[in-house]
Amino acid sequence: MNIITNFEKIKQEIKNNSSQNEIEVIAVSKTFSIDHIMPLIEYGHKHFGENKVQEAEKKWKELKKSNIDLRLHMIGRLQSNKAKKAVELFDFIHSLDSEKLANELSKRQKEKEKNLSYFIQINLGSEEQKGGVEISELKNFSDYCVNELNLSVLGLMAIPPNDNNPDKYFKRISELNKQFNFRYLSIGMSNDYLKAIKYGASHVRIGSAIFGSRN
Ligand SMILES: *Cc1c(COP(=O)(O)O)cnc(C)c1O
Repeated sequence: MNIITNFEKIKQEIKNNSSQNEIEVIAVSKTFSIDHIMPLIEYGHKHFGENKVQEAEKKWKELKKSNIDLRLHMIGRLQSNKAKKAVELFDFIHSLDSEKLANELSKRQKEKEKNLSYFIQINLGSEEQKGGVEISELKNFSDYCVNELNLSVLGLMAIPPNDNNPDKYFKRISELNKQFNFRYLSIGMSNDYLKAIKYGASHVRIGSAIFGSRN
């Protein structure tokens, strides 16, 4: 298992399959130790994803101080009482999904004078266990984040239902993204990133295909 070989193979496949020029690979390092991740950092990759604030803080806080080009993406569900820490640590939040959270992030980033970039997560299959706003609420929520709070919203994000039909969901989110005039789109994981790219993904979030399977 060589992380760099895996990573280069993915980059090459993406290049061969995309007409669009810039697709950001977010290396999802959740559950892996810094020792395990380090080869990819040393290789020069900058964008990493984590899904828990506490774990991310332990792993990345010091590293980010000594490596100022690193960019950290919060891809997991975020509670508003962790917004302060999240703002300190992360550069991108892919899981913006409630007014309460948006209010708190807005307040904290003003305090910090830091301007994060956001993806609004949508709950494509109305699954109870998953975060994300319902499609019917997207317009109001997006207007609120963009116009009232002035958050830098880049685009939409989703984790499609696991029912072997990603095309249907990718198509839907891709249409919505266009409808809202967003330039960026956060979809695609280890099993479906090439498909996601066909539907206009700009940010793919890839964990196990780079770092190996998680326990
Ligand atoms: C874990 C996770 C990923 C990466 O999953 P892999 O299948 O390992 O590539 C992507 N997005 C989110 C939101 C995740 O929680």
